Amino acid sequence: MREVSVSAEPIDRFARVLPPERVALLKEAADRSSLLLRGRTVWNVSSTERGGGVAEMLQTLVAYGQGAGVETRWFVLTGDERFFTVTKRLHNLLHGFAGDRGGLDEADRDHYRDVMARNLEVWQNRVHPGDIVLLHDPQTAGMAGALRDRGAHVVWRCHIGADRADGHTGRGWEFLRPFVEAADACVFSRREYAPAWLPTPRVWVIPPSLDPFSAKNAPMTTDSIRGALHRAGIVEQLTGDGTLAFVRRDGTEGTVRVHRGLLLDEDRPLPPAADVLLQVSRWDHLKDMAGVLTGFTDHVDRFPDGVHLLLVGPNVGGVGDDPEGAQVLGECRGLRAALPPSKRARVHLCCLPMDDVDENAHLVNALQRHATVVVQKSLMEGFGLTVTEPMWKKRPVVASAVGGITDQIEDGRSGVLLEDPTDLERFAALAAGLFKDPERRARLGAAAHERVTSAYLGDRHLIQYGELFTSLVAG
Ligand code: UDP
Repeated sequence: MREVSVSAEPIDRFARVLPPERVALLKEAADRSSLLLRGRTVWNVSSTERGGGVAEMLQTLVAYGQGAGVETRWFVLTGDERFFTVTKRLHNLLHGFAGDRGGLDEADRDHYRDVMARNLEVWQNRVHPGDIVLLHDPQTAGMAGALRDRGAHVVWRCHIGADRADGHTGRGWEFLRPFVEAADACVFSRREYAPAWLPTPRVWVIPPSLDPFSAKNAPMTTDSIRGALHRAGIVEQLTGDGTLAFVRRDGTEGTVRVHRGLLLDEDRPLPPAADVLLQVSRWDHLKDMAGVLTGFTDHVDRFPDGVHLLLVGPNVGGVGDDPEGAQVLGECRGLRAALPPSKRARVHLCCLPMDDVDENAHLVNALQRHATVVVQKSLMEGFGLTVTEPMWKKRPVVASAVGGITDQIEDGRSGVLLEDPTDLERFAALAAGLFKDPERRARLGAAAHERVTSAYLGDRHLIQYGELFTSLVAG
């Protein structure tokens, strides 16, 4: 187990984006929580500190927890290749997908238990009776029993799920059930994700949120967007460089480094005038990067000539808990290599370095703001911060009508939903239509920003956490 160091952030800064009545409610909730939790620690345990929605959100929630006067800490477990293969299998199954079709047998369960025990051994005696432990996703569920035995209030937070229970979800839950049943409460992003056997009083529904002040979401000028993307070698030189500086999580200033080769396979930086269709995701089968590529290139004639597709994900060595990354990226590279040169020139694969998470966040921010249209053509999506983020930036988003995406986007108002994520022709028609209609793009973008402001900022999230903690402590 290793601790992720997070600097406290004051909750007062929400006053910059929220009306006074919402800030007042947040402050009241923070005062109640800091009183209730005095002398207790709120622990978070997850499987990675970078790349993916859980890491993104923990960074924020831990910082605001501390800012609200609650002792809040975050640890990342240590696992081996076999462990992450098993947990990736669970991840796919709970999303309703077969994944690598590998089995889950007693030996896998024993190995999972072993990894849990090894992590607990070096860490659990820091946890005191009355503390609250938030265990995130299948990778950590197996710690619930031991921590509850120590007298902690244990919450298992599941960030994934499927729209409908089926044989795959059943297999995943069969493995996890004995571990999950030991938790005092379970948090899901949507009610539909909770398995039927979990008693209703233990089920909490708390959707994710984004942080409007982080390097990922903070405002950027057009010049600094261009400056960052040029310096990183993603877009050719544009006139007028803005600042290359960004604010790190610890409050210090960072500067975008010069990068070479972020665009793969000797690709050239995008022309400055290109209109960009962007998907940013981990290289995970369920994000269907390959489907986006094929949908675009098979129907490229529908798009105006200046449109380029940019698929962006983390450097595949950089996300330790995701063994599928190299394979998915390899598939996309193969598809691109097989394209005729005229099409290949309009498709770009980009791997962002993960050695500096703040610079990574700043580059994602610049990319999402530079894009003309953002797509998220996932086959399934627990929530999809990669939808929330461009919505906050007033980008028009075309996304699959699956999972948490359907909660975020009101079809035709705050974005456009693709009913069947495998319908590539429809995907291309919806995306291409947006490139031809700047007024509609602006309308969708404005409504998207409003939607995120009303439902997916940290105040709502922190207040819900306060309610959950109160209920746990009150027993
Ligand atoms: N992300 C990133 N760099 C990348 C790719 C993704 O920072 O190269 C971030 C992305 O901006 C978002 C998170 O990873 O904040 C992905 O969260 P989401 O809920 O969309 O999906 P998950 O990866 O958790 O399935």
